[in-house]
Amino acid sequence: MNILIINGLLIDPSQDIERAGALLIEDTTITGIVDPALYTIQGETAYLKSDKDKRCTVIDASGMWVVPGLVDMHVHLRDPGYEYKEDIVSGTRAAMNGGFTSVCAMPNTRPVNDNKAITGYMIAKARETGFAHLFPIAAVSKGSQGTELSEVYDLVDAGAVAISDDGLPVSSADLLRKALLYIKPLGIPLIDHPEEVSLSKSGYMNEGIASVKMGLNGIPQSAESVAVARDIMIAAETGSRLHLAHLSTRSSFELVRWAKKLGIPVTCEVTTNHFSLNDDAVDGYNTNAKLNPPLRSEQDRQAVLEALADGTVDCIVTDHAPHGYDEKEVEFDKALNGISGLETSVGLSLKLVHERVISRKRLVQLMSQAPSAIVNLKNKGSLKAGADADITLIDPETAWVVDKNKFLSKGRNTPFHGMGLKGRAIMTIAGGTIHGNTRT
Ligand SMILES: [Zn+2]
Repeated sequence: MNILIINGLLIDPSQDIERAGALLIEDTTITGIVDPALYTIQGETAYLKSDKDKRCTVIDASGMWVVPGLVDMHVHLRDPGYEYKEDIVSGTRAAMNGGFTSVCAMPNTRPVNDNKAITGYMIAKARETGFAHLFPIAAVSKGSQGTELSEVYDLVDAGAVAISDDGLPVSSADLLRKALLYIKPLGIPLIDHPEEVSLSKSGYMNEGIASVKMGLNGIPQSAESVAVARDIMIAAETGSRLHLAHLSTRSSFELVRWAKKLGIPVTCEVTTNHFSLNDDAVDGYNTNAKLNPPLRSEQDRQAVLEALADGTVDCIVTDHAPHGYDEKEVEFDKALNGISGLETSVGLSLKLVHERVISRKRLVQLMSQAPSAIVNLKNKGSLKAGADADITLIDPETAWVVDKNKFLSKGRNTPFHGMGLKGRAIMTIAGGTIHGNTRT
């Protein structure tokens, strides 16, 4: 099918473009920006004036941004093993509903994605029954146990785009060093969840005034920054690609700034959660605001915003972490960590533009171009001629209210239920196939 998207604002940082225009898609590929005057447009179809056989479906994107399909390089799809929380079909469908045409799934499934059979299963299931494109991330260590390297070469050969023991840090510095040396010729990044467990293990939320008020043991900032410093030093020595997951503290960003200045091959991400909320959200023992790393102080949240604005942060992720009802409706200390985030991320991230923290183009870079580059997704993150026909249409202005009961994800665990937001993704095209979104 050929598709002509007209009247939209094309935003593509890969070509430094931000202008009104028409975009043509032919089958599964972007043909490029075209002159709409060359077409006769009749309702929902158009044909080339010079060749009436060249027909296409018209999408009128008036008032919308037309951007390269959004990429979320950090999601938990729970499949195999925890399908009651989420599965590849519901998760990739929720991704499309939220505006993401590609997602990278973390390996903390059951069994852990530490062998090519599981990587292959995930890719095949997504291809046959999924919606958004799925790129698995394989485990650094067997069973993510932190002792023995997994079969990294086989996993990459089977389609894994990165390695990570996310959910857990790579706790042994020696294993981290071995893994980084191993991946160097493969060109993939190692994604570490930076956490010094000896500092965090007895805490349930950020250490600060809020934790004192609530009488809960806190997790200090150093639980993250100590691990970030260790990881950066090992990346500096090995020269291998290190990506730091979900950074949340001011000192972590200071370390990354320093590393980047020295040319150490480090990239980093922040989650929608950590720039949208601070630890006040935990007030009332709200388990839906229980995360790892925890929501931090307002000063740290401001540090996230500064790092987004000054280029220290490479990309925005959701860290989509769906859970069953019973896993959150328990005492705070027993509740599992995480937020079902795929369907609220764009609305929350648009706030950064509305509040002039970052530009529109920078947002698209953070949510599409940069994550595509970090995990080496070929022909994604761009509207260039020849790129895959993965497109997201964003309505930046219309007000809506988050309703968890309308999520397509199985996970309803969100602290954003009932929140009013301005703007959202309203259509996603993946591989040339159009998916309209559920509207409230
Ligand atoms: Zn993590």
